[in-house]
Amino acid sequence: MILQDHRLAPTPADLAQAEQSILASTGGASAVWCGRAATALHWAYRLATHAGEALETPEVIIPAISCATPATCALSAGCRVRFADVDPATGMATLDTVRERWTPATRAVVFIHLYGQTADLTALAEWCRAHGLTLIEDVAQSQGAVYPDGRAAGSAGDVVVYSFNRTKILDCGGGVLVLRSARMAEAWLEIGHREASSPEIGPQTAAVLALSQRNLYHSLVALRRLRSAADVSAPFVSVNDAYSRLYVRSLRHSAALAEAWETLPRVLEDRFSKAELYSAGLTGGPWRLLDGWRTSGVCWRYSLLVDFPERLESFTESVRRDGFYVSNLYWPLNELINPGDRCPKAEDFARRVVNLWVDGSVEAPWIERCTASLWMHSASRAART
Ligand SMILES: *Cc1c(COP(=O)(O)O)cnc(C)c1O
Repeated sequence: MILQDHRLAPTPADLAQAEQSILASTGGASAVWCGRAATALHWAYRLATHAGEALETPEVIIPAISCATPATCALSAGCRVRFADVDPATGMATLDTVRERWTPATRAVVFIHLYGQTADLTALAEWCRAHGLTLIEDVAQSQGAVYPDGRAAGSAGDVVVYSFNRTKILDCGGGVLVLRSARMAEAWLEIGHREASSPEIGPQTAAVLALSQRNLYHSLVALRRLRSAADVSAPFVSVNDAYSRLYVRSLRHSAALAEAWETLPRVLEDRFSKAELYSAGLTGGPWRLLDGWRTSGVCWRYSLLVDFPERLESFTESVRRDGFYVSNLYWPLNELINPGDRCPKAEDFARRVVNLWVDGSVEAPWIERCTASLWMHSASRAART
């Protein structure tokens, strides 16, 4: 199926091959193409909370280290979000950290394969099944990756979501929801038809709202990074409803997606070879290099954890001023949404992580100059202002 022009329709012929390939790699029963991973997540939450006994406030468990979308769209879908702390070596949740947040109101668990890394989800999937929970697997940053045992990422979740929007592996626009069972696909139809019938906002309104949401996030995160405010969750949560119309979005260009799909192997290979360049250039520095991309086969952002968290902000700023793309993804979302769920390992991770670009916007000489800049600023004693 596809959500296109604000209505649900059968998958168009130009996406047939992409659909076949995504169903084959995930073992899914059906796919729904849409405008964003957020749309897929929104439907996944609706599905998960419709199953089982009705609750006033169903809960979903989401890793603390993530882009804000999986959590903000869970709030808009009427869920309470509980945050799982992360493995300090990878930034990803584990079965143990997820378990700590379980309550009888839990309906779903979101697992995010972060920065292209993957984790074996066998035990988590079993635990979810035993507790009647929907496992939502978010592959937005790891399209085309494999688990440590070589099976395809996306083959463990009851529901799997992908993003093809700006900054993701394919950035042609769009998202997809994959449903593992025919029973789920059936249950989704009713939800999908109901929600497709409400009108969508236009692209200009969406762009302004998305910018506002991004600015709000960065403004509040900066206050927490600098420890300038004790709790920023009230302003973040209180205006969240204003952004809810951003989530259910049609796919605009199915032909562009079909075309981009064929480039995936080349795109992944190109990213992998750039990750190898960073790795060769950065080995032995005052940081730990995350190397999950080697086993997963996918590098979304080349990531490292610096040994000097107290200088992270000035370090990042100095490298940026030398003209290089660099980010610190992400700030623990529990602090923006549910500070009662303390996640100390996520905070430690966030105060160390540095992410570097491996996409089509950078080339080998650029990467060499970038690693030189990283070395230089890692050695500077005083923070530059
Ligand atoms: C980008 C991203 C999303 C949201 O994707 P959209 O297509 O922009 O809605 C969801 N989850 C993760 C992990 C992401 O990186």
